[in-house]
Amino acid sequence: MALTLINGNKPRHPVAFAFDVDGVLIKGKTALPGAKETIELVQELGIPFIFLTNGGVQTEAEHVKNLAAHLGLASLHQDQLVQSHKCRHLLQCSSDTQEYSPVPPRNGDASLPNHGLQQDEQPGSYFSNSDFEWATDQCQPRFAQGAFREALKGIWRHATGGKAELKYSVVGKPTETTYAYAKKVIFEMALRLRADDCADIPPSCPSMEIGTVYMVGDNPENE
Ligand SMILES: [Mg+2]
Repeated sequence: MALTLINGNKPRHPVAFAFDVDGVLIKGKTALPGAKETIELVQELGIPFIFLTNGGVQTEAEHVKNLAAHLGLASLHQDQLVQSHKCRHLLQCSSDTQEYSPVPPRNGDASLPNHGLQQDEQPGSYFSNSDFEWATDQCQPRFAQGAFREALKGIWRHATGGKAELKYSVVGKPTETTYAYAKKVIFEMALRLRADDCADIPPSCPSMEIGTVYMVGDNPENE
């Protein structure tokens, strides 16, 4: 995977890129061939790009610091990293502190939808990504959050006697919620690049419309 510079001119941002991380740029802590050169080239060309990953066990600052180290790059900006849980605020979930009954009184009430389970304004269930597996530097892919979700569904089915479905929401790739958020971050980066480019010549600064955003991933089911 390597971009080729077709001509020596700096493009006016006709395109932008969203790069998946695991399996595209790195596997475990090992950079994949061409990954460093690709990021250096899009940086040199001033093309807006972000990292769009379903990984989320590190803070953004830790994640970009480690990614830069694995790729052998001097630095990356944490604003360019979109982790799967980052757009959770777009969901209709409340962060208010609230008390919930450990055993809601309407649980098992057959006259109610879903036999009364996950009713009574009890908190919803949210998954920050749907990946069943993810690529590491091991020879076999590792189970991801989607595998945990399927296991939980089995436990739920057993615990409820099959009378109620587990209700949940998912964000992360490839959900529309996450791509809408990623698009917003890319446009913010394009605006920042335009501000840099136009520092000396603001009146004649060219428009920086983005024609196409390309997602570069390793799993068509999740990108
Ligand atoms: Mg991947």
